[in-house]
Amino acid sequence: MSTDRTVANFHTHCYLCDGEGAPADYARAAVERGLVALGFSSHAPLPFPVDWVMTRGGLSRYSEEAARAVRVVDGKLPVFVGLEIDYVPDLVAPDGDAFPEIELDYIIGSVHFVRGDADEYLTVDGPIDEFLETLDRGFSGDAKALVGEYLANIRSMLTNYRPDVLGHIDVVRKNNGEDRFFDSSARWYRSEMMSVVEAAAKNGCIVEVNTGALARGKNVIYPERWVARELVSRGVRMMVNSDAHRPDRLTFGYEEAFALLRSVGCRDHWILTHSGWRSLPIGDE
Ligand SMILES: [Zn+2]
Ligand SMILES: [Zn+2]
Repeated sequence: MSTDRTVANFHTHCYLCDGEGAPADYARAAVERGLVALGFSSHAPLPFPVDWVMTRGGLSRYSEEAARAVRVVDGKLPVFVGLEIDYVPDLVAPDGDAFPEIELDYIIGSVHFVRGDADEYLTVDGPIDEFLETLDRGFSGDAKALVGEYLANIRSMLTNYRPDVLGHIDVVRKNNGEDRFFDSSARWYRSEMMSVVEAAAKNGCIVEVNTGALARGKNVIYPERWVARELVSRGVRMMVNSDAHRPDRLTFGYEEAFALLRSVGCRDHWILTHSGWRSLPIGDE
């Protein structure tokens, strides 16, 4: 798979946010692996202090470094500049006009924060100790309420904005392991997830299969299989990204991701080209 010119990655984080390596390093790795396209999606600046996002002033450097990466690949594959923009209700949204100082080829819209009863923004996708803190400080230990707010935020984002790509649709499963915090087969969870699926289908965005947690040693892919099946059955366009935080993880977990898509009857995955989004056949194993 890694030398097959049918895979791409549009969800990557370099050292300008919380990743390692420069955009040019990703570009070299993409050429080595024979990727068909590469996109940068650093975490967009936020209006409150967070150490894993870019600063507003860092956006011009991001553009410059991406331009350097384009020179490095020297036409061997198309390289695109995007942002992973958070949706925090009433504060920040994956809106095309959110960062006018940078020219963007695409936007990934993601939810990383919930609030609950806290007077601060708490992360849903951090390591386990951070998740426990979110659960405790915002929700007094009520995981159902935490999950409910996360999914409500996703729905609200999809109702009001048009990101090109929906990031890690059910990232709230990250620390749930074998249903440690909530029963992922419970009727309330399935019904909340289904309404997110419906919202994604109505929105028309591409939904990514995100393998980022695999590189962090967790046996989780977003979305889980039944959610992927529901998305595919509604004709939602799917893509595969590794949410790479290191250049050597550009295609980490891709075999599992494509196997997941095949298993739910998905025949194509979507990539960005210089003439817009288009599909490539997934093919047989
Ligand atoms: Zn993310
Ligand atoms: Zn990401």
